[in-house]
Amino acid sequence: MVRTPTDDLQPDRAPSTGGPDAADRPAGPLHGTADPWSLVLEGFDPEDEGRREALCTLGNGYHAVRGAAPESRADGVHYPGTYAGGFFNRLPDRVGGLLVETESMVNLPNWLLLEIEVDGARVDPLDPAHLIEQRLTLDLRRGLLSRLLRFTDSAGRRTTVRQRRIVHMGRRHLAALQTVVVAENWSGRLGVRSGIDGSVTNSGVARYRDMAAHHLRVRTLGEPDPATVLLTATTTQSELLVAVAARTRVDRGRVERVLERSRGLVAHRIELQVRAGEPVTVEKTVALVTSRDVAVSHPAEAAVEALAEAPGFEGLLASHELAWDQLWRRFRIDLRGPATVETLRTLRLGLFHVLQTASPHDLDLDAGIPARGLHGEAYRGHVFWDELFVLPLLTLRMPQLARALLHYRVRRLDAARRAARAQGHRGAMYPWQSGSDGREESQWMHLNPMSGRWIPDVSRLQRHVGLAVAFDVWQYYQATGDLDFLAGHGAEVVLEIARFFAGLTEHDATLDRYRIRGVMGPDEYTTRYPGATTPGIDDNAYTNVMAVWLWHRASDALAALPAARRTELLEQLDLGPAELLHWELLRRRLYVPFRPDGVLEQFHGASALPELDLADYRRRYGDLQRLDRILEAEGRSVDDVQVSKQADALMLFYLLSADELRELLGGLGYTLPPDAIRRTIDHHLAHTVHGSTLSALVHAWVLARAHREDALEHFERALRSDLADVQGGTTAEGVHLGAMAGSVDLLQRCFAGLETRADVLWVNPHWPARFGELEFTVEYRGLTLDLRVSGREVRIAAADGPGTPIRVGCGDEVRPLGPGDAVRFTAG
Ligand code: BGC
Repeated sequence: MVRTPTDDLQPDRAPSTGGPDAADRPAGPLHGTADPWSLVLEGFDPEDEGRREALCTLGNGYHAVRGAAPESRADGVHYPGTYAGGFFNRLPDRVGGLLVETESMVNLPNWLLLEIEVDGARVDPLDPAHLIEQRLTLDLRRGLLSRLLRFTDSAGRRTTVRQRRIVHMGRRHLAALQTVVVAENWSGRLGVRSGIDGSVTNSGVARYRDMAAHHLRVRTLGEPDPATVLLTATTTQSELLVAVAARTRVDRGRVERVLERSRGLVAHRIELQVRAGEPVTVEKTVALVTSRDVAVSHPAEAAVEALAEAPGFEGLLASHELAWDQLWRRFRIDLRGPATVETLRTLRLGLFHVLQTASPHDLDLDAGIPARGLHGEAYRGHVFWDELFVLPLLTLRMPQLARALLHYRVRRLDAARRAARAQGHRGAMYPWQSGSDGREESQWMHLNPMSGRWIPDVSRLQRHVGLAVAFDVWQYYQATGDLDFLAGHGAEVVLEIARFFAGLTEHDATLDRYRIRGVMGPDEYTTRYPGATTPGIDDNAYTNVMAVWLWHRASDALAALPAARRTELLEQLDLGPAELLHWELLRRRLYVPFRPDGVLEQFHGASALPELDLADYRRRYGDLQRLDRILEAEGRSVDDVQVSKQADALMLFYLLSADELRELLGGLGYTLPPDAIRRTIDHHLAHTVHGSTLSALVHAWVLARAHREDALEHFERALRSDLADVQGGTTAEGVHLGAMAGSVDLLQRCFAGLETRADVLWVNPHWPARFGELEFTVEYRGLTLDLRVSGREVRIAAADGPGTPIRVGCGDEVRPLGPGDAVRFTAG
């Protein structure tokens, strides 16, 4: 143990008493519930702590930390998880009697750790016997989490603690926690233990708790300088290295410091004398660097270096705020009108968490968009098809970020090719769940907590994820006109996925049509036919129609390429006229299932399944979102009845316009009678229990034109997925990024009717009056556009500067718009 008296906070770093944004500033129009920029959470509720921690997560796309209390440890109530984008490790395990290997986003050493001792004794401030008050304020505009905490000890000594923390949006490695302690009615010794805990495991999700969880081996616990501790650790299998350095300074001339190193934890124990009413400021500044970084020799060296250059909290806060301010300018969204504060705050909360997961730091970070953000361990940080709901938002605000995220898939094209080959196919089969290297990461078994049984999991049969990848590539190209990306990578991805889906088809002589059999659609409640020994269903309408869409786009992509590149690609892929001709045949002859009444069927034979009395189940169980678990616990199977988690046939109306859908089906020789769309929507709505947060988004979208009020109800539900924890407990394990991004996207692309098609930016609003006026900013073909939508009126103004005129349209009218110009439309 080393005892070193140190000069702590430098004189130029003025002691702070919390500053103008201290957590205890009175709740007023700018800081209370009337402020659409801040989320205020009062008190402490152990039952609700997980949700709060997820909602108060701070991150910068590179790393993130949950909004846990700094003094807390993982104990079933608190879970101070720390994650870095793309930082995975695999562990062998035995699950439900099966030997498996699971890859997880690793819970990294906890840098938040900061404990306070009152006159030599540790007090749990959140213990109901001690807590006087707590208020957390998440300032979305500044990316700042503030905490006011007041507690007492058993001797009646009252202490106020004000904490502010940031994960620096501008400087990817840095984070900081400022703590101001005031001994209210006592004088004596104040102890602060500030450290890094490397003994953490992945234990944030109760269902996984019996599984292997030790991903890290602590390598070094050091003290590079008297104010700083350093911890390095490597992962057990991927051998990634993480280095975390933490500098703790106190605004007092002399304090006593003791270095503590034990069981994977390194900390400074600081003691000082305090007098009643005199604030003491403790600043903990942290640098987290991993071996996945570019331009780094050794992460430990880089972490210490980053700290050496880091100013104190106020300085860091200023540059952090600037970075957020710049981001918000790009991602601006404003609602003006009565009763819009709550909606606006929730929209911004969603945007905030999306940007904390995928930020400009992703431009040179090879990471996808984990479905549950960098906010928790649900789905082990895996990447699903959810980017389908996130990328449109990013493409219209920061196209280069969308492009960087698409590269996550581009880099894993070879893995997808390997997966296709292993199934006897050519082309690329993207995995349902993806992690580090793009192999399939879906689990083989999952636990039903209601019955305690491990159930075989066949969700990997969701081949449609490849369709989403191709759709994302094409959408990005449509919105940006980025031929460079299409020619360099995008077209290859699209063609290889198209080839894989062509390989999946088989000819049915009786129908004289091609079919895609033995897959799963996005609706995860239907995994097999009743009594079938092999999993999978045939001709999922969503998969089949989107495959047809894809074969069309494959030929569009080839046509868009410069001739020389087209030739190169055809040569490289050995893609000849016969294969292309076969795709053309599939575009005309793929089978799509319809019910006898003309309603698009979810999959072949779906309507032959018995109906389930949903009203009865609702009476008995209330919430039916996890009907699969309910039925399994009753000894039945959700496979055997006509009910869906998310109505995937309706996804077609989400991704395609009615005209596009009619055209695709028309090409296949099917006609949609005039009221078929409405009846298809009604049928599927009546059979859906919305077990996925994505379901509400899709329903809001498809109902927007015809059933405005129902659409808004679904929109509210999607929007509040995490704030209200609509699934009853899943938010604690990570936010639902698809729902968060999708809700904002729904406002701009569905309700405001923004669309990028055929080199025109269209705006055809169906704007709900209750949302007042919408203002937002998009970037389109090099121009920054401010849009104002109210009712059926639209104003589009292009920022001044360089750039060539674009074309904007509404209804039948298309007009040019150059830099500095503005146009107005009234939708018909
Ligand atoms: C949904 C999937 C989604 C996944 C991750 C599941 O509950 O059914 O569609 O991709 O969650 O968000």
